[in-house]
Amino acid sequence: MSSVFVVAIDGPAGSGKSSVSKAAARGLGFAYLDTGAAYRALAWYVADAGLDGEDSAAVIAALPGFDYAIGTDPDEYFVRVGESDVTAAIRDPRISGGVSAIARVPEVRAFINKLFRSIIAASPKPGIVVEGRDITTVVAPDAPVRILLTASEEVRAARRSAELSGDAAKSAAEALHRRDRADSAVVDFLTAAEGVSTLDTTHLDFPATVAAVIKLVESSPEFSR
Ligand code: C5P
Repeated sequence: MSSVFVVAIDGPAGSGKSSVSKAAARGLGFAYLDTGAAYRALAWYVADAGLDGEDSAAVIAALPGFDYAIGTDPDEYFVRVGESDVTAAIRDPRISGGVSAIARVPEVRAFINKLFRSIIAASPKPGIVVEGRDITTVVAPDAPVRILLTASEEVRAARRSAELSGDAAKSAAEALHRRDRADSAVVDFLTAAEGVSTLDTTHLDFPATVAAVIKLVESSPEFSR
């Protein structure tokens, strides 16, 4: 992993970290790793196998058969489980609603973190932007650039439900809060660990946020073009 320049980005649901990380990777000529997709893909795999995601023993027993692949090119994003392309299916609200139960199992996290480390080490680009919940603290605590992307709860809910209205927007906001609460019981992604730069995007638009991330990378002493 040491030869790949890692930009670690954590943040809650709706902070915009996926789109920001992807755009920053594109701007830097880096690869991009969406770690949430692995937890989502596992939740899909468990459901597809007819298993109960709340049954940790069954989920742990299923791990060796979990054959997962992800595209790390920011322009060619895909997620596969075995032969199935699950890129769209893993965004289904049923998957979003069930993923926290799977992600809180320590054996699952250890298994998936190992996958991440090998994907990072095999990066085809000189650097990789890795985004998730525990990247700055657990997956890549030694990354030269570590960022916590935040935004007020209202702004996050509004961004998530921008294309919805009325009851749909309300239930999307509630689902987001539920997921954040469940996730933050496992990993504290709401406060920056020591050495992690907080980037509050409440009052920043998308291009300004991407520019701020790129600036943090370019000002790192370990970064060279
Ligand atoms: O980022 P995204 O919303 O796709 O993440 C889906 C879920 O995966 C989160 O709600 C969380 O339960 C889990 N996750 C995690 N650690 C990460 C990334 C995601 O626990 N590094």
